[in-house]
Amino acid sequence: AKQEGKDSYIVFQSAMHTQAVALLELENDLRRAIERQEFQLYYQPIIDLNTHQIRSFEALVRWFHPERGLVPPSDFIPLAEDTGLIIPMGYGLLREACQQLQQWQQLAPAPLSVCVNIASRQFAHADFVNYLQQILTEIPLPPGSLKLEITEGVIMKRPDLVADKLAQLKDLGVQLSVDDFGTGYSSLSYLQTFPVDTLKVDRSFVMKMGHPDSREIVKTIVTLAHNLGLDVVAEGVETQAQAQLLKAMGCEYAQGYHFARPMEPDAVLSLLGTKDQR
Ligand code: C2E
Ligand code: CA
Ligand code: CA
Ligand code: CA
Repeated sequence: AKQEGKDSYIVFQSAMHTQAVALLELENDLRRAIERQEFQLYYQPIIDLNTHQIRSFEALVRWFHPERGLVPPSDFIPLAEDTGLIIPMGYGLLREACQQLQQWQQLAPAPLSVCVNIASRQFAHADFVNYLQQILTEIPLPPGSLKLEITEGVIMKRPDLVADKLAQLKDLGVQLSVDDFGTGYSSLSYLQTFPVDTLKVDRSFVMKMGHPDSREIVKTIVTLAHNLGLDVVAEGVETQAQAQLLKAMGCEYAQGYHFARPMEPDAVLSLLGTKDQR
């Protein structure tokens, strides 16, 4: 039995080792990927449920790894956060999204905005506001057309520090969305005190809207948002039934596979082009 215990310990240790090596490898790859710019932003339309027009796009990063192929963000964003690589990577993506938006705005018939996800560590970075200001000086955008998506968890981590930072961002003319709303442990009072513009209802609630409980939660979030003068975006809308329910609740914006998947910038161009030709 003793021998067996020892063996399983070795097996366990070697599994840990394999995992650590794999992680290290991925970290090295990530470092290289930043230098070689293997990342690309895809864009998913956000639809106005009443007019069916595209008002906005959410920028979602894609990593095309030379050997592994497409690596989903859930596999590398957490690692990028842990290693701090999210800082250089995030700045690059932010600049790319602003450049893209500027180009589209010159072509689009109606005002367009772009939403960029900001990771916890990126938001916490001391130079974040300065850096963003620098980007916006270089790439001037109409006020309100750049939206930052920050999760509820980030806001609640240090509410005292966050208030100041959010105010500075608003001063730059940036809009603020609370991402994954409803999944955090937040008190609702921050919504009153913080200068946020939009709530994004987490996909997990939209997905389960067939159940009365989830439907009630979504309805409550929509009502709460409206009472506070905020916009609501429902994410992960996959069916016509969900879209109809949301519209009936007064939710004005939606995003999800039912309307469109995240797409390459070129596909956005033809989408905007099609609108032009009507
Ligand atoms: P998120 O911000 O909540 O983004 C929404 C996710 O839902 C995206 O996954 C999107 O592709 C997916 N999605 C959209 N519509 C549907 C739908 O109808 N059904 C389903 N099942 N999924 C849908 P994605 O692109 O894999 O991104 C996952 C997460 O990675 C994001 O969640 C966000 O937290 C993070 N992320 C993505 N891009 C970036 C980025 O550029 N920077 C940072 N910091 N985080 C990012
Ligand atoms: Ca998001
Ligand atoms: Ca989300
Ligand atoms: Ca999410």
